[in-house]
Amino acid sequence: QFPFGRRLPCDIYWHGVSFHDNDIFSGQVNKFPGMTEMVRKITLSRAVRTMQDLFPLEYNFYPRSWILPEEFPLFVDEVRMMKDSDPSWKPTFIVKPDGGCQGDGIYLIKDPSDIRLTGGIQSRPAVVQEYICKPLLVDKLKFDIRLYVLLKSLEPLEIYIAKDGLSRFCTEPYQEPTLKNLHQVFMHLTNYSLNIHSGNFIHSDNANTGSKRTFSSILCRLSSRGADVKKLWSDIISLVIKTIIALTPELKVYYQSDIPAGKPGPTCFQILGFDILLMKNLKPMLLEVNANPSMRIEHEQELSPGVFENVPSPVDEEVKVAVIRDTLRLVDPQKKKRKDIQYNYFMCCRCQALEQVSEAKEEVLEAVPEQDAGRAPEPGLPSLCLKQVFPKYARQFSHLRLVDRVAALFIRFLGVKGTTKLGPTGFRTFIRNCKLSTSNFSMASVDILYIDITRRWNSMGVDHKESGMCLQAFVEAFFCLAQKKYKSLPLHEQVASLVGFCEYHLAALDEKRLVWGRG
Ligand code: ADP
Repeated sequence: QFPFGRRLPCDIYWHGVSFHDNDIFSGQVNKFPGMTEMVRKITLSRAVRTMQDLFPLEYNFYPRSWILPEEFPLFVDEVRMMKDSDPSWKPTFIVKPDGGCQGDGIYLIKDPSDIRLTGGIQSRPAVVQEYICKPLLVDKLKFDIRLYVLLKSLEPLEIYIAKDGLSRFCTEPYQEPTLKNLHQVFMHLTNYSLNIHSGNFIHSDNANTGSKRTFSSILCRLSSRGADVKKLWSDIISLVIKTIIALTPELKVYYQSDIPAGKPGPTCFQILGFDILLMKNLKPMLLEVNANPSMRIEHEQELSPGVFENVPSPVDEEVKVAVIRDTLRLVDPQKKKRKDIQYNYFMCCRCQALEQVSEAKEEVLEAVPEQDAGRAPEPGLPSLCLKQVFPKYARQFSHLRLVDRVAALFIRFLGVKGTTKLGPTGFRTFIRNCKLSTSNFSMASVDILYIDITRRWNSMGVDHKESGMCLQAFVEAFFCLAQKKYKSLPLHEQVASLVGFCEYHLAALDEKRLVWGRG
């Protein structure tokens, strides 16, 4: 531990809280800049909402959410409209303060008017979300799943999922929410930190019983009941990949601001904790993403009244030790060297017997994913618990990476490295270079669009540190432009067409500059 930083460079830095714990210029660090901000309840909801606007069916794994205070009137109106169109709809909502964790400050309501206005909603940013009333129950109890996901690299995108996770159980039998039971946290909230205080909490050494179990034990149980566990896993993998695709555009903006291309800096990886709820019909729903999931493998036990002791928790140990061990195996700097040796060997074979090239190449290339897929490459170590899901399944998801391409345009026009917001000149240059200004859309209208959208986003108090247009504001402006230009298409096609149009003009410009340069 180096509480005051360390002068000598390391291969791997394991920060406790965030990327910014210490200044580092080389090696690998276990946090991405901006990840903590990105997974806050409001930011995550916004990022998923953008994807829901583009791909509503693909992103239906996140409950309908409204951001407070700014969307309170919208929340009231939409609920009223839905109730009018379906009088039998008796919804419940869950209110979660932004930046809260461990169930802190969370409560359930039946009507928008029940939102607690203590201190005014103005002072308490929060997300209000449709409550999933029919969760899957095991032993009559509600539970959620904590899955560990390794984001190994942002560019190119590399994602691994741990084969086992934890299931955290409520400690009171579940009943659908009524005005009477709405306040019973041990029935509705699965947080370990809350349920540990219930008299019914069961610490168990066995992975199949107790209030915290392995996810694999739940899968076994579901499989014995005839559930399609393979489909469930594939739905979970989709949910994880799609969520990370929603987060990557902004993460890239943070990344280039903290680690500008061409300057010395570390590369990053991060273990994320995904909290997922299974609905009765086995559909996985995303609850939240944790940038700093607890890696504790002990729990507190009360030996005698008021006397506590830390004792090992076998269930936590089984899951978490494997996640950390395999993360270190995957980011191992020696491994890269071994890959280079394999490649050199392959090049050598190439010279000796050209006709064997294609076979050898396949072997070398396959050797890497095979290792990652679970074989035991290192002697004396168990097979990997982390399974690569991206780029392995990239083809199925590539059409969703549209906002990533919008973010690439945004980053190109940011200008001075180290910023995360686009100034008015940068926005004008973007419009000009991409040939988006027409007789119907003058540069004066461009300025008005910039001012309108930027002012609104800045008034929402997202980030006051810098002035200018943040990525989400740029995305909104981009969607506006796309709708204007390609009127009759669905939104994702409008955006895809405009991205293609901009990329085409920028490539042509780059080509021209290259020719001028040569001249
Ligand atoms: P926190 O970060 O405070 O743990 P979560 O978003 O994870 O906040 O919510 C806490 C708990 O509330 C979850 O573990 C889950 O049991 C329950 N919960 C959260 N959102 C929903 C929802 N939309 N429907 C049903 N239960 C939910």
